Amino acid sequence: MKTIDSLNFQNKRALIRVDFNVPLNDAFEVTDDTRIRAAAPTIKQILEKGGSVILMSHLGRPKDTSAGSATLANEKYSLKHIVSTVSKLTGAEVMFADDCIGTDAFAKSAALKPGQVLLLENLRFYKEEEKGDVAFAEKLSKHGDIYVNDAFGTAHRAHASTAVIAQFFAADAKCFGYVMAGEVASIDKVINGAEAPFTAIVGGAKVSDKILIIEQLMGKANNILIGGGMAFTFVKAMGGTIGKSLCEDDKLELAKELLEKAKAKGVSLYIPTDAVIADNFANDANIKESDINSIPDGWMGLDISNGTIKTYSEVIKNSKTILWNGPMGVFEMSSFENGTKQVALAIAEATKLGAFSLIGGGDSVAAINKYNLASQVSYVSTGGGALLEYIEQGSLPGVRAVEA
Ligand code: AMP
Repeated sequence: MKTIDSLNFQNKRALIRVDFNVPLNDAFEVTDDTRIRAAAPTIKQILEKGGSVILMSHLGRPKDTSAGSATLANEKYSLKHIVSTVSKLTGAEVMFADDCIGTDAFAKSAALKPGQVLLLENLRFYKEEEKGDVAFAEKLSKHGDIYVNDAFGTAHRAHASTAVIAQFFAADAKCFGYVMAGEVASIDKVINGAEAPFTAIVGGAKVSDKILIIEQLMGKANNILIGGGMAFTFVKAMGGTIGKSLCEDDKLELAKELLEKAKAKGVSLYIPTDAVIADNFANDANIKESDINSIPDGWMGLDISNGTIKTYSEVIKNSKTILWNGPMGVFEMSSFENGTKQVALAIAEATKLGAFSLIGGGDSVAAINKYNLASQVSYVSTGGGALLEYIEQGSLPGVRAVEA
């Protein structure tokens, strides 16, 4: 993978597609700067190499893009709110252009001097961005001499700025930033170079979101540990009684097929054996423990319980490669967070014992951060959808475009 390390940026303008899709509060303050922090080393390195930087990103899903630029309705999606955070984390003064392809934006990018940074307004204020419009991509390309893709979080989309734009740069004028390189290297390590035993932990709400990844993992992982709401579809498929737990009835056959496939491939597919159940989807509901197969009517499973935690923790601690996507329960509520927390702790423990651990997917990342364990695992992915798609497909449009 060609990174910024192999290109000369002296007196060059680097147009970097970053993923600055960060959460903002009602006062438009950045509440989680992880993605900006992650991109800072790429930006700093290019500035140190004598280049200037033009940053482009999307923020949220602005609805009314008809005006083609920031309207009042889109105020909350304006990237101007993050200028001070970008400046703080890169140590550079950051200028802002309030229309990514406006006259002012091109005047500003053309006048950039080495060491200077310009942030362009939200790309998604133009519907052409998500449509992958070629003319829009070509316009954007005029901002820079070199294209750098460092937006792993959107690399699974063939949008104008993430993939289509790459064709307007020669092979020696496009490359990847450190975020992309780090992400791809860590996924490769798990998917193509995993040291056994390789354990994948898959949780979250729905089986339907995770079918492809489970199927892909069947050919790679030694153990697959299932948790979260999706576990109950498996339990019901095997004949268990699940009360009013989350279940996708149209996926029961598929769950059965996955169980059979695992058996045929010699993969140990673990389904929880017990659950923390509640009579209501609320933190202060009545709560008790239950065998997973006999949840009473009117009750729902909202977390894995002690027996499952013990089994899963042991499998995790004996693993050499670990991939974790999706929480084991409703970890946002303290009454149902223990399973997720214990799995996170087991992963940290295994990492200490020498395992390579990759955490990916929005909610598992939120969980690992909640328990302050991000520094105790090997790699925390910044892109949930992109990570899953990379595992499912083996590549991403944003990667292919730069490598073409
Ligand atoms: P996903 O985005 O599919 O990874 O799902 C994450 C969401 O699943 C989190 O918001 C969890 O609260 C939720 N979740 C996890 N376990 C359960 C469960 N047993 N019942 C309902 N929701 C759950």
